[in-house]
Amino acid sequence: MSLLKILLTNYCLFDCAYCINRRSSNVERARFTVDEVVALTVNFYKRNYIEGLFLSSGIVRSPDHTMEQMTLVAKKLRREEGFAGYIHLKTIPEASPWLIEQAGLFADRLSINLELPSAESLRSLAPEKDAGTIAGAMGQMHERIAEAKEDRRRFSPAGQSTQIIVGADATTDAALLTTSAALYRDYGLRRVYYSAFSPIPAASAVLPLKPPPLQRENRLYQADWLLRFYGFTPEEVAASGEDGMLALDVDPKSAWALKNRGRFPVDVNTADREALLRVPGLGARSVDRILAARRHTRLKLADVGRLARSVKRLLPFLVAADYRPPTALADKAELRPQLAEAPAQLSLF
Ligand code: SF4
Repeated sequence: MSLLKILLTNYCLFDCAYCINRRSSNVERARFTVDEVVALTVNFYKRNYIEGLFLSSGIVRSPDHTMEQMTLVAKKLRREEGFAGYIHLKTIPEASPWLIEQAGLFADRLSINLELPSAESLRSLAPEKDAGTIAGAMGQMHERIAEAKEDRRRFSPAGQSTQIIVGADATTDAALLTTSAALYRDYGLRRVYYSAFSPIPAASAVLPLKPPPLQRENRLYQADWLLRFYGFTPEEVAASGEDGMLALDVDPKSAWALKNRGRFPVDVNTADREALLRVPGLGARSVDRILAARRHTRLKLADVGRLARSVKRLLPFLVAADYRPPTALADKAELRPQLAEAPAQLSLF
């Protein structure tokens, strides 16, 4: 979805070490009025440049004042402009529950940023933020969303999400994924967004000088997908790499398969859904198509080719009615570099 993603202001009372807009930063400051954001949004929306608004803000005057201004934008858009596009508001955990309630009436989605995955990191890098307050606000939001659904009332119908900064502290991918799994389980989050830390001018000495490797953020999104839709546990995904960090050369599902070679090949005609979901290159939709098709026939390799996006990647991992991989996976030393290549370039046999 294309969203107008803006800050109401980059003034901020807080001093989060990883943020360019922190109080002690000498960045130039600017501030939109509520009416300016409303006008910009409506204007872009009418011209089909955007499908909605994602509004965030530095904290000005107080958390309540800032939340009030952001809610006012959403309220004006809906009530005065009849705006039917998508609205995502980033809420401020310290704001009063009444204001969050109001925000949920007009926004499609609300988010509360966790920012850093542990209470210790938050204490050292974002001293005005408190892990307990953030968790409490997420818990309240979860309850409100569930209650509103039950009462058929409107309150943040697209749920809540959060963002975690990756690479500003020493947290491993294993710890990040464990945190994400707990957030999905305990607060019914729709999405956890992983945002790679990028070094800022005149940064605190406790921050790293370099951003994390580009591929790390991508691997975390892939691993997160495995947690939500493929039945993997955080421990399984994390163990596919080394020292709590995901492998960067291959995707986490392939990395897991390479560490669990004894579980392959699986028979496409008899394996259960869980086993098929673990085959690198087989997506959830392809697995469901395979399960439906094999009720009527024993699937050959060509059938799998029609039901999956690409059969090439599957060849070392699957048995079909007319096909068995010629070499046991455990014997194929060169498989890893081949899986690291783009799918179109794979030549596995
Ligand atoms: S509260 Fe938000 S805008 Fe303000 S310093 Fe922290 S991260 Fe930056």
